Amino acid sequence: MAQLLEGKTALILGVANKWSLAYAIAQAFRREGAAVLLTYQNERLKAAVEELGGEIGAARIFECDVTKDEDLAKLPAEIAEFGKLDAVVHSVAFANREDLSRPFVETSRAGFLLAQDVSAYSLVAVARAAAPLMKAGGSIMTLTYLGSTRVVPNYNVMGVAKAALEAAVRYLANDLGPSNIRVNAISAGPVKTASARAVKGIGSMLEEAPARAPLRRNCDPAEVADTAVFLASDLGRGVTGNVIFVDAGLQLLGA
Ligand code: NAP
Repeated sequence: MAQLLEGKTALILGVANKWSLAYAIAQAFRREGAAVLLTYQNERLKAAVEELGGEIGAARIFECDVTKDEDLAKLPAEIAEFGKLDAVVHSVAFANREDLSRPFVETSRAGFLLAQDVSAYSLVAVARAAAPLMKAGGSIMTLTYLGSTRVVPNYNVMGVAKAALEAAVRYLANDLGPSNIRVNAISAGPVKTASARAVKGIGSMLEEAPARAPLRRNCDPAEVADTAVFLASDLGRGVTGNVIFVDAGLQLLGA
């Protein structure tokens, strides 16, 4: 059977461990024939990401902290041997743990700006660095969550960052569309990952969701990954500026 991403090169930012949504996406991209470039934020994660990258046959693994422009400036050298870049997966977010458990009104200026920088502005910086390398057009995607538009207990500063992220998707889609570069967000349902565990109450959300979700189960990272494959592939060629929900239908519910 033909592979959907054969001949494509994809940069995937945000693998921390085997539970990371970015890792599920990297596995699916490899299954579909893409050459995959993985990044790790700093030395602390280097060995873990190299091991995971080795397991799936990643073509390159290099350091990239998305808050550092000098790290993003390394991209042309990292993709040189592939000639062009076709897809970018931005699966990165961070907020101080205390801002994900106390009332939102107590968010500090520094905590607010940190969440915006890592979780929203970084998409703009990554897109600016990647777009010139997408010589035959391409697909940029990010990961978001319903807390961008609805009040989800304790999601707080991250919800505001996701609102900025989703707005950035629309503005980037408009800027980069003439270069045939599409920009979209996948809004995943709750999944138990390192980032999610920082949000107070995630455990009970995951326990309660299967009884409420229209599909009567939690979202599976493999489903998020298959939607990322669709967006990166030529099947997604008409889709840009969208937020696609992969959440077993949870976003439909009023209460
Ligand atoms: P994860 O495995 O913890 O992934 C988050 C990644 O962001 C980690 O690899 C983390 O690296 C990285 N990161 C943080 N700061 C960075 C920086 N300055 N430079 C580069 N990378 C940095 O958790 P995840 O759940 O898969 O999260 C991936 C994305 O999905 C996030 O945008 C998240 O908001 C979104 N999402 C998650 C859920 C869910 O329920 N899990 C639902 C909807 C959307 P470190 O470990 O080194 O910090």
